[in-house]
Amino acid sequence: MKLKRLLGALTLTTLAGCAANIPTSSTVAANAAAIEAHMQFLAADALAGRDTGSNEHEIASLYIATQLQALGLKPAGDNGSYLQRVPLRKARLAQDSAKFTLHVDGVSTEMAYPKAFFTGPSLQFAQTEVTAPLVFAGYGLVSKEFGLDDYAGLDVKGKIVVLLTGRPDSLPSEEAAHLNSLKTRLAAERGAVGIITLHTPKQEKVRPYASSLLYLNSPSMEWLQPDGTPADSYPDLKGGAYVHPDAAAALFAKAPVSLEALFASLDDAKGPAGFDLGVSATLSRSSSHEDISSPNVIAVLEGSDPLLKDEYVVVTAHSDHIGYSNDLRNEDKINNGAMDNAAGVAILLETARLFAELPQKPKRSILFVVVTGEEKGLLGADYFANNPTRPIEKLVANVNLDMPVLLYPFADMIARVRLRVVI
Ligand SMILES: [Zn+2]
Repeated sequence: MKLKRLLGALTLTTLAGCAANIPTSSTVAANAAAIEAHMQFLAADALAGRDTGSNEHEIASLYIATQLQALGLKPAGDNGSYLQRVPLRKARLAQDSAKFTLHVDGVSTEMAYPKAFFTGPSLQFAQTEVTAPLVFAGYGLVSKEFGLDDYAGLDVKGKIVVLLTGRPDSLPSEEAAHLNSLKTRLAAERGAVGIITLHTPKQEKVRPYASSLLYLNSPSMEWLQPDGTPADSYPDLKGGAYVHPDAAAALFAKAPVSLEALFASLDDAKGPAGFDLGVSATLSRSSSHEDISSPNVIAVLEGSDPLLKDEYVVVTAHSDHIGYSNDLRNEDKINNGAMDNAAGVAILLETARLFAELPQKPKRSILFVVVTGEEKGLLGADYFANNPTRPIEKLVANVNLDMPVLLYPFADMIARVRLRVVI
């Protein structure tokens, strides 16, 4: 289950304004048959797993939009429509182009692709090549709160940083997931020109290196800014590679600590300190690009309070799933995504119906935002957070439905939480 990054952009205040209006009588009740019917449609084989950018995902979005329209909700997307088109770039790696050459004492060795390393496409450039010294920087994490600075005392400007995948066990999981998502930015801000990530024996137990190889041909995606550049892009960061532990030992040939000793120390609370590796590498690859778009669906139920109706409680769920499977071992190639996240969308639609049929509408307006591209990196939610169709300061709370399994009465919610603004 993934929380939208949007959550971080919002300051949750109180939902009491809308919760107080929900009748406690049984006149308004969820219809299980309606939830099942929405799921039957969205998770049908005919919708082919609703991959972002696919025609089947467009059909799913149209279904969601017309259901919201039928309930009498007003369009809140682009140009008076229910859709907000998210401009996306789809990038693919030319498989035979990925090269990783290690230079040790003037001797160059080519790493085997994809046995020793693999890489993703560049979302910005058709061709990239970089040669630079390697610097080990632990997990590549920086957090004042947790007393972490893996870059302390290191100069990584113009260099390729070598990082361990994952994070120290000592970090709480939610915060760790957030910190983990900042690794690329942290490296780029310090002037790094490439990132090599080391697969660890510990990670092998969680997710084997071999299982990642099933996705080598999967495209990467990012949403595009008005100037045509991908969001979260770092033009100076030219190279990337993910390295198998057996191959990684060679990177430590001149290091003060062997890779074996380093891996043995990973249970220490803070993770290992960084150092220059005394070797350099060349990373290169070719990527092809296709610019497409995919819709968020946005509708609004206007609030009943003359003042508070200008504030919005945002209810989100992602409509996309991962489409066809790459796993040749399975005969059924369609990942239907019934739980992830036809269930969330179905419950959002039923929630919209319940709110729409209330005799007395909630005080605040409710903005239903069904987002695309979640499986590609929370793209639709991030695009909406950066391009909200209502003023961002008026979006007072966000309830996200991702694979909801509500085995208890979930009638209302009152939140008094302040989240840090992260974007
Ligand atoms: Zn999901």
